[in-house]
Amino acid sequence: MSPEQDKPFLDERSSMVEQQLHCRGIHDERVLAAMNKVPRHQFVSQYNWPEAYADHPIAIAEQQTTSQPYIIASMLQAAEIQPTDRVLEIGAGSGYQTAVLAELANHVVAIERYTTLTEEARRVLDQLGYTNVTLVTGDGTLGMREYAPYDAIIVSAAAPHVPPALIEQLAIGGRLVIPVGNAQQQMLEVVRKQRDGITVDGLEGCRFVPLIGQQGFAA
Ligand code: SAH
Repeated sequence: MSPEQDKPFLDERSSMVEQQLHCRGIHDERVLAAMNKVPRHQFVSQYNWPEAYADHPIAIAEQQTTSQPYIIASMLQAAEIQPTDRVLEIGAGSGYQTAVLAELANHVVAIERYTTLTEEARRVLDQLGYTNVTLVTGDGTLGMREYAPYDAIIVSAAAPHVPPALIEQLAIGGRLVIPVGNAQQQMLEVVRKQRDGITVDGLEGCRFVPLIGQQGFAA
């Protein structure tokens, strides 16, 4: 391995956490520590390593992107993930957020629509030694009933509305974080499920790639 490949990017990572996350109101210590630990550059092509810790999304295969670090942190903080939680992630993409979730939760079930992305994400997650992740290719708008209910569900792609299957598979007391809107802009919504129904809070404006599936946008 060349010295450049070996570079651990420790300084870039800690300044990302301090300047992009902490300074902008991410205060959950577990989220900050997890994002200070996961080597984000490993989830993007080596060509993109110089910008792996920059304040913007990065292109990955299949014309998708790995989200901006701040928006990932904001979603994870809103999901209030506990070490005992079982979490569902829709839109695993590069697997970067999957790795951060694996640091925060007990078990992560992650769904990605493209086989190429699932395979590459699995390779990196295996290489980094994450054993508490179940990564599958499929339509995440339907969730994954097999492992439900989930204490938290994170959707990393823009939905036209909250997919009913995901509300159904959320545990009582569970949190679902999802960008809802049109293809151009969305609102990050936090859906909480209680015994007597659900509540929805808008967190902030955002822009994600579309969630394509039976309970999402048409392909
Ligand atoms: N958190 C990821 C974000 C990837 S972008 C990361 O940081 O890398 C969103 C991903 O959602 C894309 O990879 C896209 O292919 C995927 N996606 C879109 N619709 C989907 C669906 N119905 N089920 C599963 N994944 C979907």
